[in-house]
This record gives sequence, C-alpha cells and structure tokens, in this order.
Amino acid sequence: MALLLRFAGQWVAGERMEDALRVARDANARGMDALVNHLGEHYREKGPVEATTREYLGLLDAMRSQGIRGTVSLKPTQFGVLIDRAYALSQMLPVLDATKADGRVLWLDMENAHTTDDTLWIGERLLERYDRIGVCLQANLRRTGEDLDRLIASRARIRLVKGAYKEPADIAYPSRQEIDHAYLAHLETLFQRTRDFAVGSHDGRMIDRALELSREHSTSFEFAMLQGVRDPLKRELVGQGHRVSEYIPYGPNWLPYFSRRLRERPKNIVTMVRSFVES
Ligand SMILES: Cc1cc2nc3c(=O)[nH]c(=O)nc-3n(C[C@H](O)[C@H](O)[C@H](O)COP(=O)(O)OP(=O)(O)OC[C@H]3O[C@@H](n4cnc5c(N)ncnc54)[C@H](O)[C@@H]3O)c2cc1C
Repeated sequence: MALLLRFAGQWVAGERMEDALRVARDANARGMDALVNHLGEHYREKGPVEATTREYLGLLDAMRSQGIRGTVSLKPTQFGVLIDRAYALSQMLPVLDATKADGRVLWLDMENAHTTDDTLWIGERLLERYDRIGVCLQANLRRTGEDLDRLIASRARIRLVKGAYKEPADIAYPSRQEIDHAYLAHLETLFQRTRDFAVGSHDGRMIDRALELSREHSTSFEFAMLQGVRDPLKRELVGQGHRVSEYIPYGPNWLPYFSRRLRERPKNIVTMVRSFVES
C-alpha cells in the first residue's frame, strides 16, 4: 500500500490535511487557486459523514488562517446523499456557512448518475442561501444539455468535465468521440449564456476551443485541472493571464479516486508497473 500511495502521490496530496494545505500553498505560489477535496465516497453511516463535515470545517479554518486562495469541492455521497438527500444538505450547511463567511465559492462534485438528481437538488437548495455555489456537470451524460439549462436558469456556477464514471449506454455516450462532441457543444453554451464557469479538462482540443471562445465572448471563467496533470500547460495558461484552479484531493480513502485516474489513462498503469519493478 505504501508503494501504491507513493505512486498515487502524483494525483493525491497525501493522507493528512497538512499534505493538502502544503500542495494548496504550492498551487497558490504557482499562480493558481486551490480546489481541495477530502476523499471519501458512498458513505451509508452517519458517523463518517459527520466526521467529513468536521474535516471540511477544520480545512476551511486552516485555509483561512494560512491565507490560502481557493475553496473546497464536496462529494454528495460523502455527505450522506445515499442515506437521504435532506440529511446530506443539512450536513453541508455548516460548510456553506464557513465558505460564505470567507466569500469563497462552494463547489459540488458530480458522482455517478444515480446521484445526479439529488446533487442538482442540493445545489439549488444551497443557492437559496448563498449565490456562490458551483455544480459539476458531465459531458458524457445524455441529460447534461437539460441540466445545463436548469443550472444556468438557477444562476449556479458550472464546472464542465467529461465525466469520470462508467455509465450505461442508454444514459451516457459510449464513445470518446461523442463525449468530446458533447463537451464542445456545452462549452459554446457556457460562453454564450453564462459566466463564472470552470472548464475542467486537460484535453488540448477542449482547452484550445475554450481559448478561441474566450476571444469571441468576454466573460469570466477559469480553467480547472487535477493535481499532477499537465503542469506545463497550467503554467502557460497562468502566464497568459487566465485563471486556473488546481483540484487537490487528499485523505486516507484515496484508492477509488486513484483507480479512476488510472482507468482514464492506461499509459499510467504501464508507468506504475515499471516504477514497482524498478523500486
Ligand atoms: C478540476 C476537475 C474536477 C473534476 N471533477 C469531476 C467531477 O466532479 N465528476 C466527474 O465525473 N469527473 C470530474 N473530473 C474528471 C473528468 O470527468 C475526467 O475524468 C478527467 O478530467 C479526464 O478528462 P479530460 O477532459 O482531461 O480528457 P481525456 O479525454 O482524459 O484526455 C484527453 C487528452 O488530455 C491530455 N491528457 C490527459 N491527461 C494527461 C496527462 N496526465 N498528461 C498529459 N496529457 C494528458 C492528453 O492529450 C489526452 O489525450 C474532474 C476533472 C477536473 C480537471
């Protein structure tokens, strides 16, 4: 496990809050905002959910005292959405108050498609209390065009990603080509109809299109990329004056996140096996 964590360290800050704070300070020093996520998902007991709420409150406190720029992004299943969505909302409210007190945006990650409706519902309830709420939408889902309209109407911020979860073909596009096509179409919608959104991708084609659209529409937006991916590109975008956030995950429950990163880039598996053999 220690060897695996060493390899996962490319994408995961570490197991402790101090690790995330160190990587967040480093992101700030490189001109980026930090978007911190405490890893953990699919909780069905209230104990770990309530520990998660306390963890985020501690994290936001530390970000405030250390003057760290950026915010947090929450996974609804970590806040108990699989127990009950109203309960998950109630667990997020103290985190909402802490982000609101600092004027930070509060982002919601989007997990697998069983949770999309509940996540949108929670996002809208949070928006009733604070206007700086962002929700992630996944281009691989066929429903995302409608969800985009809904979130634009409710004035949520939107983070557009391709989608990290394997979903059945009746609800999701099965091919990379179709997902990319949908991503590009949603990107146009974002630039034409809203502002303060995040372009969450490492794909040069998506980024180049966003740069083109940004020249046509003067709207405020940011690029968002994962820790450990395309650092030279992040540097380049910051150098050109673009806002860039780095998504920084940490915590002992890093294995599912790490597996998703390996799955979307098989080359990483080869590198990992090679590093094990060489160590
Ligand atoms: C900030 C952020 C937040 C996210 N939040 C969520 C979420 O809440 N829910 C969710 O489902 N998913 C989320 N994701 C993950 C997302 O859905 C994708 O799984 C992930 O970003 C990979 O898709 P991609 O757009 O980078 O393109 P891909 O199609 O994976 O990659 C396209 C191209 O990008 C380049 N590339 C990718 N990785 C590398 C690398 N390591 N080094 C060099 N080049 C590389 C290569 O040219 C590659 O061919 C998030 C992603 C980001 C960046």
